[in-house]
Amino acid sequence: MHAAPGASPLAPEWLTVPADLNELHEPLWAGSVARAQDGELAVGGLSVSALKEQFGTPLFVLDEADFRARARAFKDSFDAAFADVCGGVDVYYAGKSFLCTAVVTWVAEEGLRLDTASGGELAVAARAGIAGERVALHGNNKSDAEINRALDMGLGRIVVDSLDELTRVGAIAQGRGELAKVMLRLTPGVHAHTHEFIATAHEDQKFGLSMASDSTEEAGLSAAEQAVAAAAAHPGIDLLGLHCHIGSQIFEPDGFALAAEKLLRFLAAMQDKYGIVMPELDLGGGYGIAYTPVDTPRPAADIAVAMAAVVRSTCAELGITAPRISIEPGRAIVGSTTFTLYEVGTRKTVRVDAPGGDGAADNVTYPRRYVSVDGGMSDNARPVLYDADYSAILANRTSDAAAQLSRVVGKHCESGDIVVRDVYLPADVAAGDLLAVPGTGAYCWALSSNYNYLARPGVVAVRDGSARLIVRGETEEDLLNRDMGA
Ligand SMILES: *Cc1c(COP(=O)(O)O)cnc(C)c1O
Repeated sequence: MHAAPGASPLAPEWLTVPADLNELHEPLWAGSVARAQDGELAVGGLSVSALKEQFGTPLFVLDEADFRARARAFKDSFDAAFADVCGGVDVYYAGKSFLCTAVVTWVAEEGLRLDTASGGELAVAARAGIAGERVALHGNNKSDAEINRALDMGLGRIVVDSLDELTRVGAIAQGRGELAKVMLRLTPGVHAHTHEFIATAHEDQKFGLSMASDSTEEAGLSAAEQAVAAAAAHPGIDLLGLHCHIGSQIFEPDGFALAAEKLLRFLAAMQDKYGIVMPELDLGGGYGIAYTPVDTPRPAADIAVAMAAVVRSTCAELGITAPRISIEPGRAIVGSTTFTLYEVGTRKTVRVDAPGGDGAADNVTYPRRYVSVDGGMSDNARPVLYDADYSAILANRTSDAAAQLSRVVGKHCESGDIVVRDVYLPADVAAGDLLAVPGTGAYCWALSSNYNYLARPGVVAVRDGSARLIVRGETEEDLLNRDMGA
């Protein structure tokens, strides 16, 4: 049980009562977010109440300079760390985390490239006008139309996920009299999450070509090796190299390093055995960000240095020229650039038995306050999907009221419709107040839905004191547009 004043026995172990409920915990927020003189939260000098006035709530508020800075930080720190290894790194922004034409433009302007995973994402890339050479296409079940579109756009790489797909991509390219530039997605048996990784010999997931030697009918030949041999021999395929992606929300470099080492050893063995050169190696994305005050992600530069050390020493040991390295961060570029602005509606307080049963015996209960906001699982599905934790702060004013353990919930017809499971908020938070939930730039708008016929929120980009919609919010008309009538 907690001893701190205001602490609730219902709070999870990791959650502490902030010394000052009005203070921003810096790693959670975009660079230009701060309390203004009058106590209001402001981004790029624009107050949240002005943003609400102009654009309504819920609203995704993105700091454009912060996005650009995080994109540059990846590019610059990986370039620096790998300069002597392979002359720099190609950074592919993982578009699935949040994609619109403005974002594609920023990515291209900052010297990054773009990862896509569907025809629709390719359509956004095409609309934004990024050069096809700088775009990659992923996916474990690409359609013929998507493969053709990739070839039409002259994509820099198609990341092939299976032996079936290799055959299809090869045949389509050959039929067009072209060469498809292909990376092979391998599963190195390394699975990382936040602070740990596990390494297994076998893979039990839908993505990628297994490196395990019993993964095909042919004894001793892995699916990965079969694919290398087939790709190298195929007249429709230009085999660029290998790819892996080991997980998401990863804080420590050791999982990336182990995967890099496994892939390099395999790459060297294949080059030797089949007399080919694979000039590229993609180590995927998954770099973690802070969602709550206990998350402590490392700067991109630290991870880059650790990964470069392993690539450098492994290539030296194997006596091979290091392939050109690429990476695919999504969340770590866009996640912290954005907060969601909600308006508070109803509140209620329930009494709950203390966890662990020590209070239940003598009938001691504790209050948990539910604070409802005007969005929910339709604009942030991650708490429902992954039990993801978030944090929230009173945004339209400061408060000296006592801390109260609160659960921020949405307005959907689901009791699991939770936005922030546990957070201390001032006791006087009331209807009409604004709450800001940071860290919602990645996989929130992207996963948004129209559940309960809620209109999906817009995304506003703030830069140099001005705000513009980069994706407008839906209207009631949008909601009815596809209803064909009785
Ligand atoms: C999702 C994904 C990424 C990006 O992951 P983040 O956790 O957002 O960095 C990169 N590469 C591949 C293949 C992915 O599927």
